[in-house]
Amino acid sequence: MGKRLMSEMTWMEVRDAVDMGEGVILPIGATEQHGPHMPLCTDALLSEKMALDVAKRSNLIVAPTVCYGFRSRPTTGGGQTFPGTTSVRGSTLTAIIMDVVKEFIRTGFRKIVLFNWHFENTNFIYDAAYNVMEDTKQEYPDVKLLIIETPFSKLKPETMEYVFEGQFPGWGIEHASIFETSVMMYVAPNLVNFSKAKDDQAEYYPFYDMLPIPKRITTESGILWKATLASKEKGEVVWKEICENLVNSVNMEFTRWEKEN
Ligand SMILES: [Zn+2]
Repeated sequence: MGKRLMSEMTWMEVRDAVDMGEGVILPIGATEQHGPHMPLCTDALLSEKMALDVAKRSNLIVAPTVCYGFRSRPTTGGGQTFPGTTSVRGSTLTAIIMDVVKEFIRTGFRKIVLFNWHFENTNFIYDAAYNVMEDTKQEYPDVKLLIIETPFSKLKPETMEYVFEGQFPGWGIEHASIFETSVMMYVAPNLVNFSKAKDDQAEYYPFYDMLPIPKRITTESGILWKATLASKEKGEVVWKEICENLVNSVNMEFTRWEKEN
C-alpha cells in the first residue's frame, strides 16, 4: 500500500486511488487551548493521526486536516477566553466542510468519512454532510458519507474503569485531562510537558451557558479535570481500542453498502 496522506500525493496518485475505488477520510479538529501541558494543535493532531491509522487498514486516503473548529465552550473546552484558542463560527465550519466534501465528490471519491476530534464540532459536521447529500444526490447517487463525530464514546466498561479509575466526569469536562493527556503521551510524547499537568476544576460546571463567559465556570489552567491521572500506558490501550472500533465500523458499513447496491 502506498502513501496515505493526500497532501503528500501527486494528482496522478490521487487519480489512481479513485480508480481503485479507495475512499477518503477528512480529519477535523480545532486550534484550542489544552492546558499548560499540551499544545493548541492537540485536537487536530489526534484527529489526523487516528485517521491515518484507520486509513491504513480500510482503503482510505487521508485528506488535509481541518484545523479550525467551532467555538470552544467553557464546559467542554475551557471557552473562548484563552489566547491561542482560534475558532470559527458554525456557518463557516459547515461551509468549509461542505465545500471540501463536494470537491472530493467532484474528484471522483464515492466513499467519504468525516472524522472529528473536537467536541464542539458535533452536529455542524452532520449538518454539512446532510446538506451535501441533499445537494448532490441527483447527480451522484452512489456517494456514501460516514460521519464520526465522537470516536471515543464507545470504549468498553473495563477500559473506562482502567483509564478513569472511577472518576469519569463526562466527555465534555474530560478536556485536556485524563483521557486526552494519556493519548497524547502515547502518540506525540514530545508535545506533552507532563511536569505542567495538574488536576483542576471550575468552581462549578453549570448545565447552561453564560455570555460573557464568567471566570467561575472555567479554570485558569485550561485543564477541566484530573490530568495527573494520565499515563502513556492508558493512552496506548484507548488508542488501540478506538482504532479497532473505527476500522471495524468503517469496513463493515462500506461493505454492507456495497452489497446492498
Ligand atoms: Zn481536545
